[in-house]
Amino acid sequence: MKLLDMHCHLTHDYYNDKMDDVIAAAKDVGVVKVVVSGVNPPTNREVLKLQEKYPGIIGATLGLYPTDLIGIKPEDPGESGLSVTRGEFDLDSELKFILENKDKILGIGEIGMDFHWSKEASEHDLQEENFRKIIRFAISIKKPIIIHSRKAEVRVLDVLEEEIKNNEIQVIHHCFSGKKKLVTRAAQLGHNLTVPAIVKKLNQFEYLIDLVPIGQLLSETDAPWLSPTPGEKNEPKNVVYSIAAIAKIKGISEKEAAGKVWENFERIFDL
Ligand SMILES: [Zn+2]
Repeated sequence: MKLLDMHCHLTHDYYNDKMDDVIAAAKDVGVVKVVVSGVNPPTNREVLKLQEKYPGIIGATLGLYPTDLIGIKPEDPGESGLSVTRGEFDLDSELKFILENKDKILGIGEIGMDFHWSKEASEHDLQEENFRKIIRFAISIKKPIIIHSRKAEVRVLDVLEEEIKNNEIQVIHHCFSGKKKLVTRAAQLGHNLTVPAIVKKLNQFEYLIDLVPIGQLLSETDAPWLSPTPGEKNEPKNVVYSIAAIAKIKGISEKEAAGKVWENFERIFDL
């Protein structure tokens, strides 16, 4: 089986002294690709370094996290563990950095909108403006995008539908937590959706597997967050739980589920 972790943050400081073990444990269960996403200028640079250090298994996407971009931090930045930026950062210069590195990356993400940490209407408008600009940039360099949406699912889908007319670029929703109607809408728009390993204990992702055609599903962990095992930090090896859930709900073997997910990955990234 070739397993995929479509989305995680191995640049988190939790992995600093355990990276070799984490990569080895992932390989042991059959993981052949771990896509690490940046969220801001410092993490984007770290992602590229990590990819150089572990060639083959690590894939990179460079991101512009919606709240980082406008200078908003979660109340306890200490909980992040990711390199942070002080205040807002310049969108144009980071897009320039991405452009310069476009041949080294799989896609752009994570990007999107987050109304959980940002409550003001004016901030939401600014997030939307940035999001549209990034989508247009992604279309211009023909790269898939990896979307984060939190409490902003309807607006995110509206923007994606308006900006991407003929599936010019592939869209991946990571940990999409919209209601059933929105899951179906995303799937009908031709978007791809990930199944996080936490599906093992959070059944909201079971209806996602049920509603989305097998040809649009991917597996991810969002490590170190969203651990399927209480008391443990998440790791790429846990994508086995995503595959098990897909197999169970779609009524196919785990081997078939893993094969389908891998096929989807190759299609989306034109590999
Ligand atoms: Zn993430």
